[in-house]
Amino acid sequence: MVVLTLRRMLLLSQLPFWVLMVAAFSLLSITLHERVVATNRATHVREELAQVAGIMQHVVDMETGLRGFVIAGNPVFLEPYTAARAALPGEFALLQLTLRQQVNPREAVAPLAHLNRVEALVGRWQTTVAEPEIAARARGLSEAAAFVKQQTGKRLLDSIRAEVEAYQQARQQQLQRAETAAAAKLRSLQLSLYGVAALTILGSVAASLVGASLLRRSLGAVTDAAERLTAGETVTLAERRASPAEIQTLSRAFNHMSGRLAQARRQADEHARELAARNVWMRTLGELSDWLQAARSLEEAAGILERALPALLPGTQGTLHHHNASRNLLLAVVSWGGAEARPSSPGDCWALRRGEARQDAGVLAPPCLHGPQQRYLCLPLFSHGETLGTLRLQAQGGEALSEATRAAAEDVAQQVALALAGLRLLDRLQQQAIRDPLTGLFNRRHLEEQLEQRVLAAEAAGQPLSLVALDVDHFKRLNDSFGHEAGDMVLVRMGAALRDLSPAPALAARPGGEEFSILLPDQPLPAALELAERLRSEVAGWTLEFAGMPLGPVSVSIGVAGLGSGIATGQALTRAADDALYQAKRTGRNRVVPSDAGSPARISSLPS
Ligand code: GH3
Ligand code: MG
Ligand code: MG
Repeated sequence: MVVLTLRRMLLLSQLPFWVLMVAAFSLLSITLHERVVATNRATHVREELAQVAGIMQHVVDMETGLRGFVIAGNPVFLEPYTAARAALPGEFALLQLTLRQQVNPREAVAPLAHLNRVEALVGRWQTTVAEPEIAARARGLSEAAAFVKQQTGKRLLDSIRAEVEAYQQARQQQLQRAETAAAAKLRSLQLSLYGVAALTILGSVAASLVGASLLRRSLGAVTDAAERLTAGETVTLAERRASPAEIQTLSRAFNHMSGRLAQARRQADEHARELAARNVWMRTLGELSDWLQAARSLEEAAGILERALPALLPGTQGTLHHHNASRNLLLAVVSWGGAEARPSSPGDCWALRRGEARQDAGVLAPPCLHGPQQRYLCLPLFSHGETLGTLRLQAQGGEALSEATRAAAEDVAQQVALALAGLRLLDRLQQQAIRDPLTGLFNRRHLEEQLEQRVLAAEAAGQPLSLVALDVDHFKRLNDSFGHEAGDMVLVRMGAALRDLSPAPALAARPGGEEFSILLPDQPLPAALELAERLRSEVAGWTLEFAGMPLGPVSVSIGVAGLGSGIATGQALTRAADDALYQAKRTGRNRVVPSDAGSPARISSLPS
């Protein structure tokens, strides 16, 4: 298939003009050639006519010479006659040859006939008139005169003249016709050239307009498309088979460029969407961080994380575990997406053991045992070099986690680890603020706070509440006898005993020195007395040693008071318990004394 290029198109558009010009030049050339032929023919005809005139002149010369000889009888007069008679055959032969060589033999027919007749007449004149007259004159003038009187010569000469004139007339007419035809051809050529010139101009204008229109259509489509492309549209140029190859190449290149641009735009949009989504995600993560910082306890943090984790890690399910206080268990803080929330051993988690993120079991790496075994991600939570727990997740459909989800989980894990560390620190500070460092029991301030709150709650709910006040007997003596450290050991042992015997939700405290208290919500005075008695008797049964030395018997005096019958506030309750304790001391120590304001006095005692 021939490809239409711009060069071919422009050359093709000029082709008709070249054909027209070749035709015009051919016509011009033919016409000029004909004109030259006609001119040559006219020249030849004129030469022919001159030759005929020469022949006629010879005839006249012969007749004149003959006349002179007849009149004068002098043979000198016959010289022109003789010369003409000698020349005439050659001239006739030459003219006949010329006529026979005519381009158009038909045109030569009539002149040749006239010429032949002239030749025949001249011959007849010579033989029947001139020769007899010359012979007659030689015999005498009168005989010659008689001959002339017959006028035979005159008739013949008139015939010759008539034939010559007919010849000349025929040739003149032919010449004139040829001239007329040549002139007509020239006029026709002139008109043809005007026509060709007009056609060339019109055709050139038309071809230019068609070419310009074609180019405008082809290039216009590209220009329009370029403008639309600049305005942000996605444009594809239709393939125009009629367009020149260069325009088609340009269109294809444009389409390619447009496609690439559209792709780049799509990618930019996609990127912008991703960036916007990432911004939203980062804002949510920031909000999570703010909320976690505001959380006062792990429970509060769990509530926040329960809402935040599904939003921050969409399409996943998982569990956040944290170490318990003794770090031998991983307890579930929160789970989302339907994941199971059960405690596990830190030793089951390879992420924790190796201190790095784990994603599926590798060729060598065994899977973690505390969750799903496949297609999971387990991130250890670290802060300030301390292991806090794990964040473990997998895709809800069970497919592999995307790189983006993995990166998001790492960011979330970092924030959660910080929050857990903060909460742990807060908890530690809180514990330090409310606990007695030696025994681990609550301190006086916390006891007093709790006492007020629990009293209000118990009164509001109509529930009983009791307070046990305990003091180690003769503790100073023990200190003095065995040293302060031995005393401390007894205090620690005392704290453990209180903790062990206190039922939930009892609150065991060491308000100070060798004094202890147990706040017993929901417990009426008799139950509290029983507990106090159990405690007293257990302490009394101790056989303690310190540094290999027996410390001797240890006893406690206990006062017990309960809400009701005049005791309505925390202060009153404390005072009542203290009074009862004082009573126990006064009445011999190592005994339990209920408050006077409580139920009927019941004093338990053992020999001190
Ligand atoms: P009583 O039977 O009347 O209660 O006599 P007591 O000696 O126990 O009471 P006292 O108030 O005279 O003495 C209390 C002693 O407890 C005084 C103090 O040195 C001692 N003590 C207070 N706090 C601590 C402590 O933290 N560790 C030790 N080892 N001793 C303490
Ligand atoms: Mg004491
Ligand atoms: Mg005391």
